[in-house]
Amino acid sequence: MAFDQEIDKRRTFGIISHPDAGKTTLTEKLLLFGGAIQTAGAVKSNKIKMHARSDWMEIEKQRGISVATSVMGFNYRDVKINLLDTPGHKDFAEDTYRTLTAVDSVVMVIDCVKGVEEQTERLMEVCRMRDTPVICFINKLDREGQDPYDLLDEVEEKLNIKVRPLSWPINMGKTFKGVYSLYEKNLVLFQSSKQRLDDETIKIEDINDPRLDELVGENDAAQLREDVELIESVYPDFSMEDYAAGKVAPVFFGSAVNNFGVRELLDCFIDIAPSPKPRETELREVEPNESKFSGFIFKIHANMDPKHRNRIAFLRVCSGKFERGKGYLHVRNNKKFKFSNATAFMAQEKEIVDEAYPGDIVGLYDTGNLKIGDTLSEGEKGMYKGIPSFSPEMFKEVVNKDAMKTKQLEKGINQLMEEGVAQLFTFEMGARKVVGTVGALQFEVIQHRLKHEYGASVDFMPINLFKACWISSDDDAKLNEFVKSKYRHIAKDKDGKLVFMAETRAWLRMVEDNFPDIQFHSTSEF
Ligand code: GDP
Repeated sequence: MAFDQEIDKRRTFGIISHPDAGKTTLTEKLLLFGGAIQTAGAVKSNKIKMHARSDWMEIEKQRGISVATSVMGFNYRDVKINLLDTPGHKDFAEDTYRTLTAVDSVVMVIDCVKGVEEQTERLMEVCRMRDTPVICFINKLDREGQDPYDLLDEVEEKLNIKVRPLSWPINMGKTFKGVYSLYEKNLVLFQSSKQRLDDETIKIEDINDPRLDELVGENDAAQLREDVELIESVYPDFSMEDYAAGKVAPVFFGSAVNNFGVRELLDCFIDIAPSPKPRETELREVEPNESKFSGFIFKIHANMDPKHRNRIAFLRVCSGKFERGKGYLHVRNNKKFKFSNATAFMAQEKEIVDEAYPGDIVGLYDTGNLKIGDTLSEGEKGMYKGIPSFSPEMFKEVVNKDAMKTKQLEKGINQLMEEGVAQLFTFEMGARKVVGTVGALQFEVIQHRLKHEYGASVDFMPINLFKACWISSDDDAKLNEFVKSKYRHIAKDKDGKLVFMAETRAWLRMVEDNFPDIQFHSTSEF
């Protein structure tokens, strides 16, 4: 197959949702359609249950499962789909944020009973940073949910994106009868079933077809006609360009657990979801169909076996063809590396890959050379942009409990930070080390892994911090002045970038007002 065709047929995406909205269930149905798994129940949830907080086995298990299901590649019709898994648990949100830097589009699952939930709002903000195209799947229509119009308004309001329904439900809950596809102009009648794959869709070319009345009853048929008329007059026609630019989100309704509305979603997805697009490096925009390979690392996973400290680095191919065994330039280190045991991810299996195309994810075994955000290329020196660190929300000071193990601690902390478990900030004053995370669970994970994998013991001391903001200014003198005047609150991140450690929200506001020449950023890239 020609190189351009290989690129065109790839769809690399992630499913995001608030926990329990149905992400795992939807993933499983998509894999069933792709023929990647044979039975329901094969996809393990990567959820960490809250009651399992201090159950270390649960965390270890989670790490195992999340390697296996990190990337699920499968074919559907003539399309190669790469589904990147994102942890639903909010304590692992940073992992999700970074995974979103490697996708070309997103499917967002919303529970029709609960509506738009907090976690979804935050993930949407991350999508907006790169104008990632989003499709909404409103799930659990077999339950009494909120009114569909209200749900659409809520999505527009809370997620700050225009919506365009492409399917419409006939009732909900006990009286749920099916969805009418505004995209394909056909009707799918609901029958509760967990395994059904070969459902018959009923073609209704004309919504005024009297067969509709026979199928769903006169009242519901009349209601559907009214709804469709209203939708077509209220919402502008679906625009591919607006979707591709992340300005409008097409919306589908269904019930993942009943495998209902999933095929409609998938069929439309492969039609409209974008194939790999150009990406920016520090030097220029790189087209996917350029002949030379390039890509970046967006995730690093430690080996489950602490005795073998090798890791898997997840590489997103951006241009050219990745070939196993070929030497590539590690741009940050300016060194050549060969990856002879690169792996591809097909559904739940890992297999050695000989070549990979833009949009594909390759697993590279690494002994500690690669970091999140690293670029590999065939010689070009520009690093890919858009893989930032995100401002953490919880902070604790690292206290070494065993002076004999200082070296191990340093090494362990550095490696865990490179994996992206958390972020380390070192205060300019006194070289105090502070770990910042998005969730409390990470502190326990770090403590546990330092002990078991590196033999180091740490305590975490509470520290009063609200936010770490990366700082910059067009005026170097002003920046220097600021750093001097706020010396006690200045730290450096892992790359030596300057960070302002704000103690409270109010104080941060005040400082922002008092220093208008300084920019305060909530991501490390600006
Ligand atoms: P995740 O946390 O987003 O991955 O959610 P899961 O896929 O694990 O689903 C959470 C719960 O919702 C599970 O008990 C599912 O069986 C259930 N669920 C998923 N889809 C539906 C649906 O369409 N209808 C109903 N009633 N329950 C669903």
